[in-house]
Amino acid sequence: MNLEKYELKGELIPIVTYPDTLLSQVAKDVTEFNKDLQHLVKNMLFTMYQAPGIGLAAPQVGHGIRLFVLDVDFDREEVTTSSGKEEFRFSGFNPKVFINPVITGANGTITYEEGCLSVPGVYEEVKRHQTIHIKYQDLKGNFHEMEADDMLSICIQHENDHLNGIVFIERLSNLKKNFYKKKMLKEKVR
Ligand SMILES: [Zn+2]
Repeated sequence: MNLEKYELKGELIPIVTYPDTLLSQVAKDVTEFNKDLQHLVKNMLFTMYQAPGIGLAAPQVGHGIRLFVLDVDFDREEVTTSSGKEEFRFSGFNPKVFINPVITGANGTITYEEGCLSVPGVYEEVKRHQTIHIKYQDLKGNFHEMEADDMLSICIQHENDHLNGIVFIERLSNLKKNFYKKKMLKEKVR
């Protein structure tokens, strides 16, 4: 799978929502870099773009493994087709996949209003590191490292939290956290 030539193709995978127990488990290392993994990544990217979201971690789609995808660069535009139908047109894809990521360094702080596909409708400011250094593997199992800042850094930290069973609202004050937990539970019962 060549991420540089990404096309918007795949199958939608259902996204689990907070406070599902899948979201509070620590994910396991990826050990097999095979076709199944490529297939999962392709469908995760498709699901992320359709949602739309800028990041999606494997536990959010029911896989307890250390993997997430993201794209902080793409554009989504609502267009009307010649037949008068409204649809979304995507461009500027820059998909990235991080497997078995480890944040090995962090600097500065940055606050940004975050949202999460597993916590629909909730947007809250979260404090993160401005710059991070990360080591990770690609789809072939090759090792890489990179420096990320601002939006990319925030997104990586948010997605990496999912691999450790942490949803962004758990980084809020106890008052807000409990408020959202109750709210989400009530919506589930309905
Ligand atoms: Zn999330």
